Amino acid sequence: MENSKEEFSIIEIIEDKIKIDENTKKKLLKAGYGVYNHSAVEICHLHEKALEGESGCYKNKFYGIETLRCMQFSPAAMFCQNRCIYCWRATEFYKLLKMDENKVDEPKEIIKNLIKEWKRLLSGFGGNPKVDKKVFKEIFNGMPSHFAISLSGEPTMYPKLDKLVNYLKSLPSTKSIFLVTNGQEPEMLEKLQKENALPTQLYLSMNAADFETFKKVNVPLYKDAWERWNKSLQFLSKANCRTVIRITLIRSLNYDKSKIPNWAELIKIGNPHFVEVKSYMHLGLSTKRLKKEDMLTHEEIKEWAFELLKYLPNFEYMDEDKRSRVVVLQNKERYVDRWITKKTR
Ligand code: SF4
Repeated sequence: MENSKEEFSIIEIIEDKIKIDENTKKKLLKAGYGVYNHSAVEICHLHEKALEGESGCYKNKFYGIETLRCMQFSPAAMFCQNRCIYCWRATEFYKLLKMDENKVDEPKEIIKNLIKEWKRLLSGFGGNPKVDKKVFKEIFNGMPSHFAISLSGEPTMYPKLDKLVNYLKSLPSTKSIFLVTNGQEPEMLEKLQKENALPTQLYLSMNAADFETFKKVNVPLYKDAWERWNKSLQFLSKANCRTVIRITLIRSLNYDKSKIPNWAELIKIGNPHFVEVKSYMHLGLSTKRLKKEDMLTHEEIKEWAFELLKYLPNFEYMDEDKRSRVVVLQNKERYVDRWITKKTR
């Protein structure tokens, strides 16, 4: 997206509704997204590979979710309180810091329209010679069974997220719902718990073990961003759902092994069921902010994860995925069966 910041705002209010502006929408559609007002959906790279007959994504490998029936989307595609340096998205153009409850779409409307977009994106694989016709037909004529609420922006900024998660839970085809948060809206996490609207698995992104590094990596807009993140960390320890702390390591910013004891101290506060240690991936618009050398090899990620284990006696090594440069550790004390659904692809 080669436009200067001043040239356009990517969010418009039309007929009292928040919408991604037409100019940005055109670019998102061209980039392979589906868009509905302030929400977006995408078939991720690993889903594409699974459609072409390769193995499922690392969440399929680790937890058994159905990659082939995954719908990755966000109800707040262009809203975020951080400007993370490693983000693949056009964070520089994100504008507003609040989604007005009276100007957002209802959950049912969002999901209905995004599923239409999801099928439109899937239809593109019908003619792909690598895609098994029978498998394709089954997926295309069916409904998503796994919802990954992440994609772009910060989903917890969508004020009706509790109703949206409960709507997804009410769909008979739903087997699992993952929600990824940057921890900047701890009140929304409390509300999800109060409304019995927590996802199957809640991810808290963790990119630093101290405030200075947090500022460098997440470039937060909220003045109390660190306090907000720590509140979300504490919430994790009492959340009534499966919880994951996902660490994204960037060689030049937060890879320093001497800080690992500090990471462990914070992880103990959240006491999650799983810890995923993952390398930054040099993709999308992050290539304008970071170097290729900032990616870590899978071996370096594994070494770092095993060093972390030395300070986390309650955890043990669970699995790894070389393709995604990620290692997962499991909590033996706050234990839950790793498999959410019987493993398929
Ligand atoms: S769970 Fe994540 S990685 Fe796996 S297919 Fe869905 S969006 Fe892609």
